[in-house]
Amino acid sequence: MSNETPMMRQYKSAKKRYPDSILFFRLGDFYEMFFEDAKLASKVLGIALTSRNKSDKNPVPLCGVPFHSAEPYLAKLLERGHKVAICEQVEDPRYAKGVVERRVTRVLTPGAILDSENLESRSNNYIASVYCNSGSYALAYADISTGEFKTTMLSSIDDLKSEISSIEPKEILLQEDANDNVALKPLFQSGWNPLITSIENWMWDHGRSKEILKDFLSVPSLDGFGLETRKESVVACGVLLNYLKETQMDFMPPLSEPVYFENTDYLLIDESTKRNLEITKTIRGDTGYGSLISVLDETLTPMGGRLLKQWLNYPLISLDEIGNRHDSVEELIKNVGKRRELNFLLKEISDIERLIGRICTTAAKPRDLGALRDSSPYISKIKELIGGFKSPLLSDFALDIDDYADVYELLVRSLVDSPPGTTRDGGIIGDGYSKELDELRGIRRDGKRWISELERKERESTGINSLKVGFNKVFGYYIEVTKTNIDQVPERYTRKQTLANGERYITSELKEYEEKILTAESRILEMESKLFEEIRCLVANNSERIRKTSQLIAVLDVLNSLAEISDKYGYVRPEVDESFDLEIKDGRHPVVERMDLEAGFVSNNITMDGGENRFLVITGPNMAGKSTVIRQAALTVLMAQMGCFVPASKAKIGIVDRIFTRVGASDNLSMGQSTFMVEMVETAYILRYATERSIVILDEIGRGTSTFDGMSIAWAVAEYLNDVGCRTLFATHYHELSQLALMADGMKNYNVLVKEEGDSIVFLRKLVPGASSNSYGIEVAKIAGVPERIIKSAKNILYNLEKNQSKIGDIDQEQIPLFSQTEEDKKSDPESEILDELKDIDPNSLTPIEALNVLFDLKNKMKG
Ligand code: ADP
Repeated sequence: MSNETPMMRQYKSAKKRYPDSILFFRLGDFYEMFFEDAKLASKVLGIALTSRNKSDKNPVPLCGVPFHSAEPYLAKLLERGHKVAICEQVEDPRYAKGVVERRVTRVLTPGAILDSENLESRSNNYIASVYCNSGSYALAYADISTGEFKTTMLSSIDDLKSEISSIEPKEILLQEDANDNVALKPLFQSGWNPLITSIENWMWDHGRSKEILKDFLSVPSLDGFGLETRKESVVACGVLLNYLKETQMDFMPPLSEPVYFENTDYLLIDESTKRNLEITKTIRGDTGYGSLISVLDETLTPMGGRLLKQWLNYPLISLDEIGNRHDSVEELIKNVGKRRELNFLLKEISDIERLIGRICTTAAKPRDLGALRDSSPYISKIKELIGGFKSPLLSDFALDIDDYADVYELLVRSLVDSPPGTTRDGGIIGDGYSKELDELRGIRRDGKRWISELERKERESTGINSLKVGFNKVFGYYIEVTKTNIDQVPERYTRKQTLANGERYITSELKEYEEKILTAESRILEMESKLFEEIRCLVANNSERIRKTSQLIAVLDVLNSLAEISDKYGYVRPEVDESFDLEIKDGRHPVVERMDLEAGFVSNNITMDGGENRFLVITGPNMAGKSTVIRQAALTVLMAQMGCFVPASKAKIGIVDRIFTRVGASDNLSMGQSTFMVEMVETAYILRYATERSIVILDEIGRGTSTFDGMSIAWAVAEYLNDVGCRTLFATHYHELSQLALMADGMKNYNVLVKEEGDSIVFLRKLVPGASSNSYGIEVAKIAGVPERIIKSAKNILYNLEKNQSKIGDIDQEQIPLFSQTEEDKKSDPESEILDELKDIDPNSLTPIEALNVLFDLKNKMKG
């Protein structure tokens, strides 16, 4: 300890305050990491691990990254879910007495990122805080790059999980040791792996949070924000704000006021339903091809891309709001010419939402101001273009969009055409903006002219034609003379450096002038930085109006994208009303129909209501198209309620409050849940929350257990849901379940047609009334390429099963030879004889020659 340097003591004291972050310790032009941080970072970043004080008994592990190019390294660490505390030099080392003062100026965490390099442009980057208080749950979340700040309260942990999975925060603040954390754990392990940050219990205090929030809003009371009585939300918001303040410090961009919302204001889609319907990603987790968003997203701005995702996660339930969106989409569809122009203009607009966020902090780059400036003329043109629209949303936009012309004018006047990515080397401010800067630049320009004049003069006076005046960082300006001419060098030259084939000299005249130029140079840099900072602050003062405009542009972009795809793919405007109907004529699955299908997509009709046709039992063999048709019903509802047109020739939809699905069989073994368990957990969830306004999609339930168990569960679940009155589409390959629909009011049988052709079947993909008479499992297996021998054997087993159907409940006791062949079959099948022989061979007791003989023997038998 005693021989520890003051700098190391400084390092340790900073590290002590940020034990869960990797400390980037600024040392000159590098950020250095020490000890465990160095070991971890060198591994993650693939950089060399060295050590300090190598000769010591305990050398200190060390690694570092250059300060000027630290960003990609930071991005990588954040992406892997690490936090990084940046410990900067906060005084100029030239003037420091003793060790340079250093301070942590910012903690970068995966949930709070501002830099464009580290952010996925079409996704929000949320940080959330979750507060659970005796059965009441609050969620607060923010995206510091866009300023969004929201909170809600939920009455069940299931709803909380749904909300969290909708926004997929990159970082979640949880109360240390809260009991409910255990229930949330599987959610975090299932998908996007957020960083979990534990916040000490005492911080989750209502009084404290209220003060933080009032201070943030600069108000004496929380009345008017919808939060006064929502204590849990206040706590979640307070903890979140405090964490952001403590980590972002001077880099904290402005957040909007917290907006309180109820999840019941939207069409609720729980986490597994989102996954099953492949809304924003496919079941395999891909965000691209195969998801609904991949078909709907033709947005042209990053803000539009982010908003579309939000609209998909939060479809509406207000008829007026849905109608407004449909009106706009319709108007855009009709105005093809304007839409084309709009497409052209939107493409030119940068991510002004995130730009303005950064511009509000010192993380801003000159290039950010340039991009903001360059978007403005296009925004003016958009404003003009949509001026003639009549639908309420679009005509309001025309009034509200603000092209920030004054800010534009300032930026045009002050900046160069293409401002650089950093302030380090100047070249930011254009000529004519500042008289002082122009003067300094004049000196620099004249100085350069003076230097070349000097070169000419010196050549003349010395007679050395190859004499050159050059510059380097170590010696500044110098006169270079080649070896052959050295004897001509006058005495007034002072030698500074010897080269392989020449010498470098300085003169007093040259040094005097150098001083002048270099001073001008450094003053120019200083001046440019100062002016940039001034302009940045001026622009930052307009952040609210620019953010508002960016939000309007986002909405316009999404509406335009919906119009674009609706027009392109022949979608129609759905009628959405207060009924309980679900009528879809010639409906298609928006994603499957875009795939490369051999025979094209076959459209289908669905007719449901809250009465006689509220529960459809859809039978048909595997692969017939049952899942597709029931999913397309759910997706049609979702698309309609998010404001899009739908893939059908006509659609009437009685507003839906929740969509539930129980689809396919997926194991979740890593979380200790078998297929059947997952299935039952999802089913229980539906039974608990479905209302008569909900739509329920059940695809094969009870498949994960024995046939009779499964069928019984399916039967009981169906009866229960039919009583709830929700519109349910229940697909099953158990054609036996069609009996159900014959017995209960409100249930109807449908099947997806197949045509028998010889001993095979052809899928017709057509949904028709009535039950399927056969499961055709064996025929489907045959189409799938299962070997003929197995198909034959399966037919045999089926025959036995059907023969014994009256006694089917006793299968286990009856010892029906289900999975073994009959003796007669074996005789006709040389392969099974060979298999039997193989089973009897004991390779350990054979000599190599015997083994070879046996092989020959078997081969001959095969040949027959
Ligand atoms: P099931 O649920 O009955 O086993 P799926 O709905 O999974 O069958 O459909 C199987 C495949 O059939 C789909 O992947 C798709 O390629 C094709 N398919 C389904 N429905 C249609 C349709 N209406 N038109 C054309 N192809 C379809």
